[in-house]
Amino acid sequence: MQEKFDALIDGVWDDAGGRYFDLLNPSTGKTLTRVAEGGKDQIDRAVAAARKAQNGAWRSTTPADRGRLLHRVAALILENKDRIARMESLDTGKPLAQAEADCVVAARYFEFFAGIADKIGGVTIPLTLDFLDYTEREPLGVVGQIVPWNYPLQMSARGLAPCLAAGNSIVVKPAEEACLSAIELGRLCKEAGIPAGVVNVVPGYGAEAGAALAAHPNVNLVAFTGSVQTGSTVMQAAAKNVVPVLLELGGKSPNILFEDANLDKALPVVIKCALQNAGQTCSAGSRVLVHRSRQDEVIDRLAGLARNYRVGPGIDNSDMGPVISERQWTRIMGYMDIARDEGAEIVTGGKRPEGADCEGGFFIEPTIFANANPGMRVHDEEIFGPVTTVVPFDTDEEAVKIANATPYGLVTGLWTQDITRAHRLAREISAGQIFVNTYGAGGGVEIPFGGYKKSGFGREKGLEAVNFYSQTKNICIGLA
Ligand code: NAD
Repeated sequence: MQEKFDALIDGVWDDAGGRYFDLLNPSTGKTLTRVAEGGKDQIDRAVAAARKAQNGAWRSTTPADRGRLLHRVAALILENKDRIARMESLDTGKPLAQAEADCVVAARYFEFFAGIADKIGGVTIPLTLDFLDYTEREPLGVVGQIVPWNYPLQMSARGLAPCLAAGNSIVVKPAEEACLSAIELGRLCKEAGIPAGVVNVVPGYGAEAGAALAAHPNVNLVAFTGSVQTGSTVMQAAAKNVVPVLLELGGKSPNILFEDANLDKALPVVIKCALQNAGQTCSAGSRVLVHRSRQDEVIDRLAGLARNYRVGPGIDNSDMGPVISERQWTRIMGYMDIARDEGAEIVTGGKRPEGADCEGGFFIEPTIFANANPGMRVHDEEIFGPVTTVVPFDTDEEAVKIANATPYGLVTGLWTQDITRAHRLAREISAGQIFVNTYGAGGGVEIPFGGYKKSGFGREKGLEAVNFYSQTKNICIGLA
């Protein structure tokens, strides 16, 4: 591991005036490396560099060349996969195999949007013979991207690729808890030949670097992924400059198991999407709704699967690593007490795992709660840890009502053999993505992703993402 990591501003490595913060390894609680602590000054310079590049070298780069550059970034991510995956695993605590999968998904973002860079066109609109009317899609300009710690590489790639394909320049502010792969992605963009200033990466604390980026008057879009509370703060800061925001916030997504669900197929997926990344995934399936006739079987089998999880440092390729920080650990463990006070029953988990390899790290056992019903905090609030609730229902209508009974609306999984029911209920559920007899679609780079309700707005991923990273100009010519 490098001794220290710097910010990337205008194509040059920047030590933030010599200020560094310690980055902890969540599997040991010990310092992993040191990272330049960007603040307002670094953000100002990065935004200025992005503006200069936007009006200069990047503006004159053809769409086809932008596509070629993005393909080169994708290839570099794959060439450096082993190194980046180790870095991501040590930084976030996630299992090495998952960090490797994250690298492949990150490369896919660049491949997918590379193919789109030269297809972002407008339309002609028929008026009368006296006019020629057409539209063009233009870049927004400078994008500020604020990234969370749970998937630093994937999330940075998810924002960078469509942003660059559409011709914008960007300042990325990764999270203070985990940011190495975001900095590394900046390095690969530079190596690929993307002009200086187009991609800037400024690590630092949210309250300082993040707030400076969100409030910057020379930024044209703030793309934020993180908590509802911070998302609202970012939105208020951007509103002062009348700048649009793209918000990807939290979730409390249900997997709904109907009486005819194929449990052999469903349960391994259900447990995986509850516990992936130690439950620190915005789209985690953190609620299981089950038809009452199958409740006992589902609780038994899920508990069995959860107990089989090998918990330990991600770098040892465990099944589940630690949560990101002591602060998150304390927050999640607080929910164990809340759940007990509310009358929920811990079926399995609920404590720190024993074992020498978990000492010093922020580990929590995979946890399943029964009797955790709507209206209870443990059911309604996003815990963002390896915690799942199981709730019974009797009718389809009741399942929909419970599914919709949280402030969130990100993802829902429906498990049934009845195709009519699946289509009907997909329409009744308030969520941005519905899966039927599956969940997640292997990263889902190609399909639009985003929230209903407090899960946010705007869409990342897929062709739709380009709409949020570009703007339409209408041009009308009088021919009379
Ligand atoms: P957070 O909102 O505290 O932090 C996210 C990012 O915002 C970090 O980079 C942080 O430094 C920055 N930040 C913090 N305060 C800021 C401020 N005042 N102004 C500007 N930026 C600021 O969130 P977190 O606790 O680190 O992440 C967990 C949350 O993020 C969960 O609720 C989770 O669901 C959500 N999340 C959502 C998605 C998604 O795609 N929908 C993905 C990952 C995480």
